[in-house]
Amino acid sequence: SLKSPMVVVSNRLPFVLCKDEHGKLHRKQCAGGLVTAVAPVVIQCGGLWVGWPGIHMDDPSQHVPESDPEDNGPSAGLRSDQVVPVHMEEQMFDDFYNGCCNATFWPLFHSMPDRAVFQVDKWEAYSTANALFAHQTVEALKKLKAQEEEGEERIPLVWIHDYHLMLAANHIRQQCEEENLKCKLGFFLHIPFPPWDIFRLFPWDDEVLQGILGCDMIGFHIEDYCRNFLDCCQRRLGFRVDRLHNLVDVAGRTVKVRALPIGIPYKRFEDMANAATRTLQSSLQIILGVDRLDYTKGIINSRILSFEKLLEKHPEHLEKVALLQVAVPSRTDVKEYQQLKEQIDLEVGRINGRFSTLNWSPIRYIYGCISQDDLAAYYSLRTAAIEDRPVLSTTGGTMGKMHASVIEIRISISVEGSLGSYQGESAFHEFRGKIVGGFTALQPRSFICVLFDRDSSVALVTPLRDGMNLVAKEYVACQVDKPGVLILSPFAGAGETMHEALLVNPYELDDVADTLHRALTMPDDEREMRMNHLRKREQTMNLDFWLSNFLKEEKINQKTCVNPS
Ligand code: UDP
Repeated sequence: SLKSPMVVVSNRLPFVLCKDEHGKLHRKQCAGGLVTAVAPVVIQCGGLWVGWPGIHMDDPSQHVPESDPEDNGPSAGLRSDQVVPVHMEEQMFDDFYNGCCNATFWPLFHSMPDRAVFQVDKWEAYSTANALFAHQTVEALKKLKAQEEEGEERIPLVWIHDYHLMLAANHIRQQCEEENLKCKLGFFLHIPFPPWDIFRLFPWDDEVLQGILGCDMIGFHIEDYCRNFLDCCQRRLGFRVDRLHNLVDVAGRTVKVRALPIGIPYKRFEDMANAATRTLQSSLQIILGVDRLDYTKGIINSRILSFEKLLEKHPEHLEKVALLQVAVPSRTDVKEYQQLKEQIDLEVGRINGRFSTLNWSPIRYIYGCISQDDLAAYYSLRTAAIEDRPVLSTTGGTMGKMHASVIEIRISISVEGSLGSYQGESAFHEFRGKIVGGFTALQPRSFICVLFDRDSSVALVTPLRDGMNLVAKEYVACQVDKPGVLILSPFAGAGETMHEALLVNPYELDDVADTLHRALTMPDDEREMRMNHLRKREQTMNLDFWLSNFLKEEKINQKTCVNPS
């Protein structure tokens, strides 16, 4: 538990405000992992959350409502006096959020500079928006100070999140110095930090670095991003950096830089997978892709076209596998994203047209958002392979080595003689993971129909670039029965730690196709060995682990806070 109050600053509040038909405001929960982990800490320490409420209000002085009584989401316990909304004019917000965050920083930081636009008016909006967030944060700090009891000094921890707010820390530090307010400043970047030769393309790169360096502690997902950041500080600003300890010397102040890979609420996903009952009544092996529809994810090349390559190179998989691709609508008002969707539609149609048969089509494509409960069922999808086997002896006997657990057995008994021929389903059992034998009632002509059980065979997680990628981790947590195989891009942050996945270069389609073939034909013991290691790591390095590590690194240190005594 945290003794000092925490002030979280993020682009969005942990909920969005919506108006009902009477014009009354309500909170709608956002169920992201970050909110799940951080909201309970803010609630417990009596902290505050600064962010945009998700709606443009005619009257910004209107109070944020308390949560609805039936709301049981992670931030439901956040009282309205703990919420600090940042209001902005619609045009300003659009220039800041769409114009600069999404059109400039998103592609640039994902090392796709050709897609980035650099416009001074958008950058100015970004700068103004950051100043606004900073102003509200300082107001929040004043409010906390006013609540302090006599003789008590609790130095608040300001935790700024992500690429929307890279200038905020510097503003907060300056204002705190002017107003003699104490605080400790931390920042976490949820996307990659690019190498120097990419970062330097940004015309105002020095301001971004100085902005981030306003913090005392800076967290990135992986070591590579830390190294890139240190490079930039040294080469652009000429600051002294200690590469051994990941420190930057900023005018006599020491700033810590740390790699803190974010994790997932592992237990929650495991429980959801155990509760999931979705069974696909088909013997197909499923290759699963789950992504926001974004150009960084490589949906066309590293999923759809490499799957097509697989079918070309290994026709033995025809009618035996299917690609199940989920694409979540994202930034749908942006032309680039609309075009990407159209391209995906075309490719899926073309490939299905090319390979489909009467009973099979190779790609199942879902354009929509799926709840995490349902997603857990997709991750642990059971495909029931139906097999009829004649009973070899009247006592049933064993049925040979099984490649998967049995989820259901149907026995049809045929008895010839005075009773005539009799057919019927006489048994309907769950025999999870068991080898079945000893059916004394069976006749030699009886048939046993077995539905085998396999978890989603292969997850194809091949972004061109991704800060971390949580889908890879959630998939692993959901392999509660027979394990599937994870194929992962080394250009996702997750690739740095998930060594037992099959790593594949998403730009090399032949390689992706060969790796898919390897995954589909991987023996059970190898699947199990790889997945056991992956699961153990994610179970330990989960979301709570990430949070407590950040707080440990951020531990209040009188010497490095703003206005040390
Ligand atoms: N997700 C979801 N519904 C969907 C698809 C994805 O709730 O239909 C969630 C998924 O569980 C994961 C997140 O969206 O937690 C995606 O995170 P990731 O890091 O993989 O990618 P991002 O979208 O942040 O780039």
